[in-house]
Amino acid sequence: MQQKTTSPLHTVSPLPVLVIAREGDPFSGLANFYSGATRGTQKVRSITKKDLKREISILDHGDRAFLLAILELKKAYEIRDQFDLRRSWEKALPLLPSPWPGSRADEIEQREFFATFFSQTPDWAKFAVAQSSTKALEDARFVLWFSDKEQRFSPAVYCPNLKTAVFLKAFLGEIHVCPHCSKPFIPSHKGSDYCSPEHRERYRLIRWRARKRAEAAP
Ligand SMILES: [Zn+2]
Repeated sequence: MQQKTTSPLHTVSPLPVLVIAREGDPFSGLANFYSGATRGTQKVRSITKKDLKREISILDHGDRAFLLAILELKKAYEIRDQFDLRRSWEKALPLLPSPWPGSRADEIEQREFFATFFSQTPDWAKFAVAQSSTKALEDARFVLWFSDKEQRFSPAVYCPNLKTAVFLKAFLGEIHVCPHCSKPFIPSHKGSDYCSPEHRERYRLIRWRARKRAEAAP
């Protein structure tokens, strides 16, 4: 039997996320998926894992807070942790659209009420995360790009602004938020949920204590 040779189909390569390259930026190719002499010859760069940390830091303060809140809520739902869900909802509520008309999730008392209410029914998080994330990605465009560097066509996502690109990278799993310090970090391997082993241990203790308190409550 003839041995199978590796074909490009069997090579897993990350989906390039493209933005227009700023003056002086290294670039990955041209926006050749656009017709027209002006747009089609604009330089684009593919956001790499290496420069993602810098891209997060230059996000607008509100966009950054929104992204981190959504990522925390997403994680809390994925692991179905009541304590994490409650904490994430408290942070996310002032940043999300009102849960329903007339509610004032930006007021402390209301926020506590809704955070408790939503965390007791985890499916609320599923809808909130899916809808808010999709809205944040609405400017992204799926394209077929010819990469001059790799000399091949490649499906890619073109983002007209950095915010959309960073959000997309985050939803592709390239940005995590540490549950202990709430800071974003680029995971070195799949499954690293904390920025450091120290924060993992500290947070486990906090969560354990919160569970004990909840069990002891009348
Ligand atoms: Zn941390």
